[in-house]
Amino acid sequence: MSYNPRQITIGGHKYKIVYKKNLEDFGNLDIDKKLITIRGTLNDNDKLETILHEAFHACLALSGLSYLIDDENKEEALVRAFDSLLLPVIKREVKKACFKGRGKN
Ligand SMILES: [Zn+2]
Repeated sequence: MSYNPRQITIGGHKYKIVYKKNLEDFGNLDIDKKLITIRGTLNDNDKLETILHEAFHACLALSGLSYLIDDENKEEALVRAFDSLLLPVIKREVKKACFKGRGKN
Protein backbone atom coordinates (compact mmCIF):
# COMPACT_ATOMS: atom_id res chain seq x y z
CA MET A 1 0.00 0.00 0.00
CA SER A 2 1.43 3.35 -0.90
CA TYR A 3 1.69 6.44 1.24
CA ASN A 4 -0.83 9.07 0.10
CA PRO A 5 -2.15 10.99 3.11
CA ARG A 6 -5.01 13.38 2.23
CA GLN A 7 -4.64 15.60 5.28
CA ILE A 8 -2.06 16.65 7.86
CA THR A 9 -2.57 18.63 11.06
CA ILE A 10 0.02 21.30 11.83
CA GLY A 11 -0.30 23.41 14.96
CA GLY A 12 -3.96 22.46 15.22
CA HIS A 13 -4.66 23.53 11.62
CA LYS A 14 -5.79 20.95 9.08
CA TYR A 15 -3.98 21.10 5.73
CA LYS A 16 -5.40 19.28 2.72
CA ILE A 17 -2.89 17.31 0.64
CA VAL A 18 -3.45 16.86 -3.09
CA TYR A 19 -1.31 15.04 -5.65
CA LYS A 20 -0.55 16.27 -9.15
CA LYS A 21 1.33 14.22 -11.72
CA ASN A 22 2.97 17.08 -13.59
CA LEU A 23 3.92 19.37 -10.70
CA GLU A 24 7.20 21.13 -11.50
CA ASP A 25 8.44 21.12 -7.88
CA PHE A 26 8.42 18.11 -5.57
CA GLY A 27 5.81 19.99 -3.57
CA ASN A 28 4.43 23.37 -2.63
CA LEU A 29 2.39 25.00 0.08
CA ASP A 30 -0.46 27.48 -0.17
CA ILE A 31 -0.59 28.82 3.36
CA ASP A 32 -3.81 30.82 2.82
CA LYS A 33 -5.71 27.89 1.31
CA LYS A 34 -4.14 25.45 3.83
CA LEU A 35 -3.21 23.28 0.86
CA ILE A 36 -0.12 21.16 0.23
CA THR A 37 0.40 19.95 -3.34
CA ILE A 38 2.74 17.00 -3.92
CA ARG A 39 4.10 15.61 -7.20
CA GLY A 40 2.10 12.40 -7.52
CA THR A 41 4.84 10.39 -9.21
CA LEU A 42 7.26 10.57 -6.24
CA ASN A 43 8.07 7.36 -4.36
CA ASP A 44 6.73 6.98 -0.80
CA ASN A 45 9.94 8.14 0.89
CA ASP A 46 10.17 11.25 -1.29
CA LYS A 47 6.46 11.95 -0.64
CA LEU A 48 7.00 11.71 3.13
CA GLU A 49 10.08 13.94 3.01
CA THR A 50 8.32 16.47 0.77
CA ILE A 51 5.21 16.57 2.99
CA LEU A 52 7.45 17.15 6.05
CA HIS A 53 9.39 19.82 4.12
CA GLU A 54 6.14 21.67 3.32
CA ALA A 55 4.93 21.10 6.90
CA PHE A 56 8.05 22.87 8.17
CA HIS A 57 7.29 25.83 5.87
CA ALA A 58 3.79 25.84 7.40
CA CYS A 59 5.30 25.83 10.93
CA LEU A 60 7.42 28.88 10.06
CA ALA A 61 4.35 30.67 8.67
CA LEU A 62 2.06 29.74 11.58
CA SER A 63 4.65 30.73 14.18
CA GLY A 64 5.27 34.07 12.51
CA LEU A 65 8.96 33.24 12.00
CA SER A 66 8.48 33.63 8.22
CA TYR A 67 8.07 37.35 8.86
CA LEU A 68 11.39 37.50 10.71
CA ILE A 69 13.19 35.58 7.97
CA ASP A 70 11.38 37.67 5.32
CA ASP A 71 13.43 36.10 2.50
CA GLU A 72 12.39 33.04 0.46
CA ASN A 73 15.97 31.85 -0.09
CA LYS A 74 16.86 32.08 3.61
CA GLU A 75 13.68 30.23 4.55
CA GLU A 76 14.39 27.54 1.93
CA ALA A 77 17.95 27.15 3.28
CA LEU A 78 16.62 26.72 6.83
CA VAL A 79 14.01 24.17 5.75
CA ARG A 80 16.58 22.23 3.68
CA ALA A 81 18.96 22.16 6.65
CA PHE A 82 16.11 20.56 8.62
CA ASP A 83 15.49 18.09 5.75
CA SER A 84 19.07 16.98 5.44
CA LEU A 85 20.27 17.16 9.06
CA LEU A 86 17.45 16.81 11.58
CA LEU A 87 14.89 14.77 9.65
CA PRO A 88 17.19 11.71 9.24
CA VAL A 89 17.82 11.80 13.03
CA ILE A 90 14.05 11.91 13.72
CA LYS A 91 13.33 9.06 11.29
CA ARG A 92 16.09 6.92 12.84
CA GLU A 93 14.99 7.56 16.42
CA VAL A 94 11.28 6.98 15.63
CA LYS A 95 12.21 3.63 14.05
CA LYS A 96 14.22 2.68 17.16
CA ALA A 97 11.37 3.73 19.47
CA CYS A 98 8.77 1.80 17.42
CA PHE A 99 10.95 -1.32 17.38
CA LYS A 100 11.45 -1.07 21.15
CA GLY A 101 7.70 -0.69 21.70
CA ARG A 102 6.93 -3.80 19.64
CA GLY A 103 9.56 -5.79 21.54
CA LYS A 104 7.73 -5.31 24.82
CA ASN A 105 4.52 -6.96 23.57
ZN1 LIG B 1 10.73 24.62 0.39
